[in-house]
Amino acid sequence: MGETKTPRRISTFFLAIIAVTLALSIVAIFSGVNAYLDENTGTAYPSLLIGASGLALSAYMLLQTRRRTSQFTIKMQPVNTTLLCQKCGFKNLREFQRGDYIFKEAEECPKCKEKMQINSIYREAEEKE
Ligand SMILES: [Zn+2]
Repeated sequence: MGETKTPRRISTFFLAIIAVTLALSIVAIFSGVNAYLDENTGTAYPSLLIGASGLALSAYMLLQTRRRTSQFTIKMQPVNTTLLCQKCGFKNLREFQRGDYIFKEAEECPKCKEKMQINSIYREAEEKE
């Protein structure tokens, strides 16, 4: 299925940015520490500041991507299809399958072996309260 391609590419892109930011801030911190050890505080403090804010920024972006993916999974609520046997009135519930539509002939009725008909298709509502 091709639907998941776009979000996956975005998160890979984000992870690449986070990795670069993280690497740059680590470099900045290291050069800041080196400058500090050389007692060159004029260079040390800006470098440490850039490194620290870079680390904070990458941590923040990481949290953002985490939140985005969790939102994405919440949105993926299951879609159900109810089947109704026209002959004996037997009702069945199953997961939505590609190509399902209302009044379409579906599987055989487990009771009377008559073809069942799709009665309704609905998205499972999120439980509230
Ligand atoms: Zn039946």
